[in-house]
Amino acid sequence: MAVASGAVARLVQKFGGTSVGDADRIRAVADHVARHRRRGDEIVLVVSAMGKETDELLRVAREVSSTHPGREMDMLITAGERKAIALVCMALADLGVEAESYTGSQAGFITDTRHTDAKILEVRPDRIEAALQAGRVPVVAGAQGVSTDNDVTFLGRGGSDTTAVALAKALKADACELYTDVSGVFTTDPRVVSNARKMSHISFDELLEMTATGCPKPAMRSVEYARRHGVPLHVRSAFTWEPGTLVSEEVAMEHAVVSAITHDTSEAKVTVSGVPDRPGVAARLFRALADRNVNVDMIVQNASAAGVTDISFTVPHADLDVALVIARDLTDELGTDQITGDPDIARVSVIGAGMKTNPGVAAAMFETLADNGINIDMISTSAIRTSCVVREADAERAVQVLHDVYELDKGSY
Ligand code: ADP
Ligand code: ASP
Ligand code: MG
Repeated sequence: MAVASGAVARLVQKFGGTSVGDADRIRAVADHVARHRRRGDEIVLVVSAMGKETDELLRVAREVSSTHPGREMDMLITAGERKAIALVCMALADLGVEAESYTGSQAGFITDTRHTDAKILEVRPDRIEAALQAGRVPVVAGAQGVSTDNDVTFLGRGGSDTTAVALAKALKADACELYTDVSGVFTTDPRVVSNARKMSHISFDELLEMTATGCPKPAMRSVEYARRHGVPLHVRSAFTWEPGTLVSEEVAMEHAVVSAITHDTSEAKVTVSGVPDRPGVAARLFRALADRNVNVDMIVQNASAAGVTDISFTVPHADLDVALVIARDLTDELGTDQITGDPDIARVSVIGAGMKTNPGVAAAMFETLADNGINIDMISTSAIRTSCVVREADAERAVQVLHDVYELDKGSY
């Protein structure tokens, strides 16, 4: 839902790392908040760590130690956001805007005890609500909370988006605005395709497929949370302040057949060849992987020829070695020792809610890749997505030619 212009609104505004990357940026954010306050809007800010600070803290931790106890990692990483909220409040004070910084714990974020990737169990926004009632701007540290064991927790990379969405829900805000360094959600990664187009609207379903297949913005968990709780999202620029992309339910939206192309180079492929075609083999393999918390994504099993078959699946790069060890440990039970790993793959996905009712989208994808000499290794689909695994070296070219074929720069396919 867009807030009607002129009406006073309650808004949660989240600023990403680049948006508060230096003193000028922090002052620009403060100016923006001051403009909203003059209109009478109630504003809650959620702020990420400045610039690349989270990466820097992680780098220092790796330099100092190889142990990385989760509790101490979370104490370290959350310091980035804590610094940013205090600085934003100081900039607001200069403009005469009454603001107060809150850590995740102070803002009422109760999480589970899973350090470095904690889940929100409950938000108790009493102090934030009271600050709003008193006419102040609460500035909340993103991606953090306090666990049921009373320890500081980090919600994981990109967790500030989730903080913002959860606060918007808890405070019954009119919208959750996610400010970033691009002007919205684009038809594809604007770094890969120069004429990628900013979409004015996108459905939750499509955005979820995008974030699940490589679009870094907004964080997937925040989109899931927003969809589940009906929190309207607005992804927009902290640099030009122009209207961005509104994310809402699909109803009453005009649909292009294809909305977006994504790519993801974060996965690797495992192939188990020469598997005897009998019941229980896949069950054994994927149970063993699940028991070791290996996150399997795509799975393809070939039709059996002469009683043997091949199974291929993808896992995050970081899990490739352990997946290979698990599969090789099962040589006897799987009935084969032909197990190989391939880290140099990428997944390219075509996404569009109109795919459900328009045949031919997948065919056009395969033809385009073929015409450009790009070999398809694996294929997977959902109701509104078709994905192909290709060589990593071909991924960006695949995105470019597909963006052209579906004319996503015009939005007319
Ligand atoms: P923030 O730090 O503001 O939370 P991120 O840096 O995580 O945001 O993500 C923003 C980046 O995501 C943009 O700079 C953009 O290059 C990249 N990106 C990739 N694909 C898309 C897309 N389809 N639409 C918008 N941005 C995209
Ligand atoms: N600063 C943290 C990160 O970069 C959390 C966030 O910004 O969402 O992952
Ligand atoms: Mg960024």
